[in-house]
Amino acid sequence: MTYPVPTGARRFLEEVLGAGIPPRDATLGEVVSRVPPSRLPPHPLVSTDPEQRVRHALGQSLPDWIAARSGNIPAFPDGVAFPVTNEEVRELIRYAQSVGARLIPYGGGTSVVGHLGVMPGSAPVLSVDLGRMNRLLHLDARSCLATFGAGVRGPDLEACLRARGFTLGHFPQSFEYSTLGGWVATRSAGQQSLGYGRIEDLFAGGRLEAPAGTLILPPFPASAAGPDLRQVVLGSEGRLGILTEVTVRIRPLPEAEEFAAVFFPHLEQGIAAVREMVQSAVPLSMLRLSTPAETATSLALAGHERLIRLLERWLALRGAGPGKCMLILGASGTRARVRQALRQALAIARFHRGVYAGRRFGHEWVKHRFRSPYLRNTLWEMGYAVDTLETAGTWTQVPRLIEAIELALRHGLEDEGEKVYAFTHLSHVYPHGSNVYTTYLYRLSPDPEENLRRWRVLKSAASRAIVACGGTISHQHGVGTDHLQYLEAEKGALGIDLLRALCRTLDPGGIMNPGKLVWQEVGQ
Ligand SMILES: Cc1cc2nc3c(=O)[nH]c(=O)nc-3n(C[C@H](O)[C@H](O)[C@H](O)COP(=O)(O)OP(=O)(O)OC[C@H]3O[C@@H](n4cnc5c(N)ncnc54)[C@H](O)[C@@H]3O)c2cc1C
Repeated sequence: MTYPVPTGARRFLEEVLGAGIPPRDATLGEVVSRVPPSRLPPHPLVSTDPEQRVRHALGQSLPDWIAARSGNIPAFPDGVAFPVTNEEVRELIRYAQSVGARLIPYGGGTSVVGHLGVMPGSAPVLSVDLGRMNRLLHLDARSCLATFGAGVRGPDLEACLRARGFTLGHFPQSFEYSTLGGWVATRSAGQQSLGYGRIEDLFAGGRLEAPAGTLILPPFPASAAGPDLRQVVLGSEGRLGILTEVTVRIRPLPEAEEFAAVFFPHLEQGIAAVREMVQSAVPLSMLRLSTPAETATSLALAGHERLIRLLERWLALRGAGPGKCMLILGASGTRARVRQALRQALAIARFHRGVYAGRRFGHEWVKHRFRSPYLRNTLWEMGYAVDTLETAGTWTQVPRLIEAIELALRHGLEDEGEKVYAFTHLSHVYPHGSNVYTTYLYRLSPDPEENLRRWRVLKSAASRAIVACGGTISHQHGVGTDHLQYLEAEKGALGIDLLRALCRTLDPGGIMNPGKLVWQEVGQ
């Protein structure tokens, strides 16, 4: 899919960042020809086909993207397996143990924090692609519970539930490609998390095949039987074993769904309104508040220049001028509940000087909700890199987090005379705080190493700003390799030891996805 950038937005980018120079990309054939021979002994479940090894070598983080586009991929898995049954997964674990191989569980490959990269080293590496474990295994309609193979992708899962009158309601922006097992392993958050909850609220139980054995998590509605072991599996990033089955809490399909847009004169008013909506439990299913820079960018990307100019004039007359912030809000449920939610939300918005702009913007957002990632292709071809980063903090911390992250990014490449364009939104809000999600763009150099270096400078400046403001190093993307060095700042040394002890218990030989989440020497 392509995402054309309107002429006005192209001009704007050139003014802000300078003219982009489109890089030269490697072809798939060139990359495949660089794949070294596999170090794995033959096994009927393991493919050593070089193209499969290329396709499973990386995720979708910006460093992954730079490596994939330039063809400079540091290391490839030695083989790829596509198990279909739990027994085949156990067989692959036994095989890895017997030949000294490492295993990387692979869901949809949409990780954006370096979960899937192969650590260079002497041990062979096997990628275990769960894509064929994708069926509905059991539906308990009375209890609203559904069990799927962990490799089921978003659209297949929803289609299967919708055909039976249910929904999971989990729609991360990577919905089209990411998998149920990947969502659990990374603690993902869907766009309607306000109404349906994050994946940890939806994850009822499942089956983890670990090197030490099989861990079954029954789908109790609640339990006081000691610590909840589901929390061990959530966010385990392939370090503890392979999730093969996942039971989720589902709901009847909503009767109605509505989305609408409101513009606030200033960010402070938008934040105050959103906080009040969530603290007074208005039954909305989503809220997304954009900063002035993101609002301006969204309007520029919308095309329809004449219409947008008219809208802006109309908003300015009502007090929402150049510093305006766009809020998209949504409600799902019975018709009466949706009407009531919108009525309550709009009353709060009006109190904070919000200007209601109707449902069209909201419905445009829904129509294109999975489309904006494709913008990365177009921008790359225009000579610009785009990346996102995210955190969460209390309502007291949120304004400072937005400011500190954007400032760190904007000034990050100043020494080398390059500019960075950054903008932010809040899209997962809670009574006690919110996520902060920042997108940033910088100009590409013809040298991939230089592009990676620029990314490292920016990522490290923004991550240090997050830690200094007391935010979490990740609200939804996870740790992988990219956030690993910042984890101790929030977990503490004892917390990190506890995570290492979990890894040792479930994976005594240290064969599961080494180098991600927490650093651990084998046998440590
Ligand atoms: C364009 C884009 C938009 C995104 N939007 C969102 C968003 O809105 N919300 C959000 O939370 N995230 C988002 N992400 C990040 C990413 O999609 C999520 O982290 C997602 O949950 C990863 O799922 P996956 O199936 O692709 O897993 P993968 O990327 O394949 O794997 C991620 C990690 O999970 C492990 N894993 C995967 N499957 C299993 C399994 N069955 N058992 C054990 N471990 C497993 C892997 O080993 C790896 O460590 C986005 C990413 C992209 C590229």
